[in-house]
Amino acid sequence: MLKISQSLINDLTDANMCPKHIKFKYYEGKERIQSDAMFAGNYFEFHVLGDTRDHNFPVFENVDRKNLKPTKSRSIKSKVEYLQSKGVEFDKGADLDSILDVLPEDLSEGRPCKAQIDLNELVLYAINILFLMGIDPAKGETQVRIETDTLLGHLDHVNVDFQAPERKAIYDLKYTETKETDRWNGWTDFMLNINAQVQAKHYIKLYHEKHGVYLPFYFLVFGKSKWAKIFKIDITEEGMSSHEYTINSCAEQLAELEKANFPASPRFNKCAKCDFYEICEQKKLTPEVEEITI
Ligand code: SF4
Repeated sequence: MLKISQSLINDLTDANMCPKHIKFKYYEGKERIQSDAMFAGNYFEFHVLGDTRDHNFPVFENVDRKNLKPTKSRSIKSKVEYLQSKGVEFDKGADLDSILDVLPEDLSEGRPCKAQIDLNELVLYAINILFLMGIDPAKGETQVRIETDTLLGHLDHVNVDFQAPERKAIYDLKYTETKETDRWNGWTDFMLNINAQVQAKHYIKLYHEKHGVYLPFYFLVFGKSKWAKIFKIDITEEGMSSHEYTINSCAEQLAELEKANFPASPRFNKCAKCDFYEICEQKKLTPEVEEITI
């Protein structure tokens, strides 16, 4: 049986859950499409904490890269100078254009795009705040994978608890493009953010199962438009029992789906945003008809 992770819980409890999507993502490990926001989040996390969950190094393409190879219309002098600068040997009177044609593309370095410049500023803003709080990311553990017999999770960061440095705390770094006041999609009202609640409960439980201690959990949220929020999550006994109930329900649901071999449950709007849209043969191409009698 697959180990239950926070993202699996969120996918299984989604009102529009598609079993085939679960199969592609968790059982077949098919590659997912990375949106611009996900890329920016990974870039931010890598530069603030030093690593990402997948240990990849997100790199922006520079813009305004110019071709340094002289074109056919350039003077013989500039072609000769270019070839000499590259250490290419040629006979006097040789066809310089043919030699240039077979040389590899030679683009200038260009300059960072605006998205990268903005993110670099946000990275510095975040690192400064972490240091003012007394958190040095280099002194903590980043991307801590915890696995038990039945559960799985990747904690962004474990470091000293900045409110009580004699103990540790779990930190989750969030990058968001939502506004500080976005109540419905953002971080204005934590109680509306069900996925974040599941994540906090799951990681606190995982750490406890592995190390026998309940650590404080903090969300460190940084907004693209330069705002920051900190949420400290305390879990009650009742909150933890409800999470255990969710884990057990998910395990049962997964067993049922395995038995049924993950039937597709296509819905137009869900399929349109599905990571596996291109490869799925059961995607829905047109909207469902809602019949209304009035
Ligand atoms: S494209 Fe639609 S049917 Fe296919 S896996 Fe995704 S959500 Fe399910």
